[in-house]
Amino acid sequence: METKVVALANQKGGVGKTTTAINFSACLAEKRKKILLVDLDPQANATSGLGLEKGFGQSIFPALLGEADAQSLIRETGIKNLDIIPSELDLAGAEIAIARRDDYLHRLKEAMEPVIDSGRYDFIVLDCPPSLGILFMNALNIADEVIIPLQCEYLALEGLGVMVDIVNQIRDAGNPNLHISGILMTMYNMSTNLSQQVVQEVVKHFGDRVFETLIPRNVRLSEAPSYGKPIITYDRHCVGAAAYRNFAKEFIKRQKEHEIEVDAETLPTLSQVIAVPESSEEKSLPVSE
Ligand code: ATP
Ligand code: MG
Repeated sequence: METKVVALANQKGGVGKTTTAINFSACLAEKRKKILLVDLDPQANATSGLGLEKGFGQSIFPALLGEADAQSLIRETGIKNLDIIPSELDLAGAEIAIARRDDYLHRLKEAMEPVIDSGRYDFIVLDCPPSLGILFMNALNIADEVIIPLQCEYLALEGLGVMVDIVNQIRDAGNPNLHISGILMTMYNMSTNLSQQVVQEVVKHFGDRVFETLIPRNVRLSEAPSYGKPIITYDRHCVGAAAYRNFAKEFIKRQKEHEIEVDAETLPTLSQVIAVPESSEEKSLPVSE
């Protein structure tokens, strides 16, 4: 299997990008997928959440500048099948440092290409910072898929239209594989109507692009990072662990469905033969801001 690059992105802060990056990665690793998590956020919460020391002077930064080989920045996490390129606060300077270069939107691509081409990993998971800045655009330029975590709260969809536009622009400007694989509803609160209403609203806009799995609000998920552990080692039987396991399973299942879809494209289909108007797949996502 080719290496797939999956970005966790939402410019809104605190929606569950990092919690998902850590636990989704750990659950895929548990399913024997080889995973590299790249922490692209100077807050370095994915780094510390997996038990690596922050501020250790290590991040993707030198590779973005072309001064280090990204492969040399890969660290083990202590979890089988899960490696990481950590982050630290200094990464905040990367945007300024690369902004002067002509290829400033493709620095991550150049840095990561040897890792992607090595075929060492099944999935490379990118934990993006909460912004639409240069690092985010670099992430989209190497991603095959974007997972958008949305918190089940009032105004969850706010600002999402801008992000979807950027994803579409980057796809059209030279990363044709890029697509939004789905919206993951996080911090679902089973005891309020609000969560349910928000999910209904999001489904109205995104239909089956919303993952079946809902991630519940679960205190164990918020405790685990301070122990430097993913949920499946911190408390493998809690509802948060079950939810992220389900999500990893659903994600893999969708990948397989997608593979079949891609294979089928090489064969003539009924709709091509009888020239039915373009499939609804091609249409951009309807999103209100
Ligand atoms: P940022 O935009 O700052 O990078 P983020 O989108 O990465 O934030 P997280 O750091 O994953 O969001 O989550 C924000 C906070 O919510 C954290 O304190 C985290 O522990 C908590 N949290 C995330 N998901 C859950 C959940 N399902 N249940 C309970 N707490 C959660
Ligand atoms: Mg984060």
